[in-house]
Amino acid sequence: SAKRTAQKNYCFFDPALHESLKKRFEIESQLKDAINKREIVTYFQPQVTANGELQGVEALVRWNHPDKRLVSPIEFVAVAEEIGVIDSLQRVVMEDCCALFRTLQSQGRLTPNFRVSINMSAIQFRNVNLSEDLTQLFLQEGVAPSFITLELTESMLVEEIDGAIKQMQALKAKGFRLSIDDFGTGYSSLAYLQTFPIDELKIDKSFLDKMDSANIGTGIIDTIITLAEHLNFEVVAEGVEHQGQLDYLRQKHITAMQGYFFARPMPAESLYEWIEDDLDNIY
Ligand code: C2E
Ligand code: MG
Ligand code: MG
Ligand code: MG
Repeated sequence: SAKRTAQKNYCFFDPALHESLKKRFEIESQLKDAINKREIVTYFQPQVTANGELQGVEALVRWNHPDKRLVSPIEFVAVAEEIGVIDSLQRVVMEDCCALFRTLQSQGRLTPNFRVSINMSAIQFRNVNLSEDLTQLFLQEGVAPSFITLELTESMLVEEIDGAIKQMQALKAKGFRLSIDDFGTGYSSLAYLQTFPIDELKIDKSFLDKMDSANIGTGIIDTIITLAEHLNFEVVAEGVEHQGQLDYLRQKHITAMQGYFFARPMPAESLYEWIEDDLDNIY
C-alpha cells in the first residue's frame, strides 16, 4: 500500500535537515569574524511620502560573504542574538547610518525631516541602559536622536509591558522616534497600544499582499490606518510592489510607503545615485 511504501522510504538521515544544520553551523562559526572583518554591510530602502518626497530610509543589514552571495538578515540576525554578538552587529548598522547622514549632509541632500529607521533586536531592547547607550553613540557621531526611528516589534512590547513602556519613555525622552514594525502580525492589545509612547505603525507586507484577494481585500489596512488616525500615529506601509497599491494608499492618506515599486534596499552609494536620478520620476 501507499502507506507502507511511505514508511519504507522513511529515512533517519534527512538530507534537507543535514543541509540546514550545516549552513547554520557555518553561519555560527563565521559570523563573529564577519563583523570584525566588516563583511556586515547596511543597505538602505527609501521611504516615500504620499506626495512623492523622500521621507527617509530603512536600514536593512546584509552579510557580504566573501565566497557566497549576500546573506539575508533572516539567516543571521537570530544567530547573532544566540551567540551574543547582536550588540556589535547593531553597532555596525548604527555607524553605517551615521555615515549615511554625514554623506547626505556633505552633498547638501539632508532635509530637516529626513529619517533613518533602524530595526531593534529584542535583546538590545532589554538593556536597561539602552537610551543612554544609543544617545551617546549617535551624539558622538553628530546625529541628533530625532533623526532616528527605532523599529520595535509587538513581541518586544508585550513580553513585559511595564518594562517595555519604561524603555519606550526613556527613548522618547532622549528624542528618538518609535515605530511598531510588522504591525498586525503580533498580539499587542488595543488597550495598551494607546498607552505606548510611539510615533508610527508599520503595516506588514502580508496585508498588502492580500489587497488583491477579493475576500480579504483592504479591510485590515483600512482598519490600521483608521486606528493610527485615532491614536495620532503616523502610518508607513511596507512591501508596495505595484501601482494599484500605491494609488490606494495615497488616497487613504498614508504617511509613507516603501517597497520594490519604488526601490529595493541598496548600498549607500547606490542610494545617492537613486536620489539624484530616480527620485523625481517615481510617480
Ligand atoms: P522588516 O524590518 O519588516 O523589513 C522589511 C523587509 O521587507 C526587508 O527584508 C525588505 O527588503 C523587504 N521588502 C521591502 N519592500 C519589499 C517589497 O516590495 N517586496 C518584497 N518581497 N520584500 C520587500 P530584509 O531586508 O530581508 O529583512 C528581513 C528582516 O530582517 C527585517 O524585516 C527585520 O526584521 C530584520 N532585519 C533587517 N535588518 C536588521 C537589523 O539591522 N537589525 C535587526 N535586529 N533586524 C534586522
Ligand atoms: Mg523593519
Ligand atoms: Mg517591517
Ligand atoms: Mg516585515
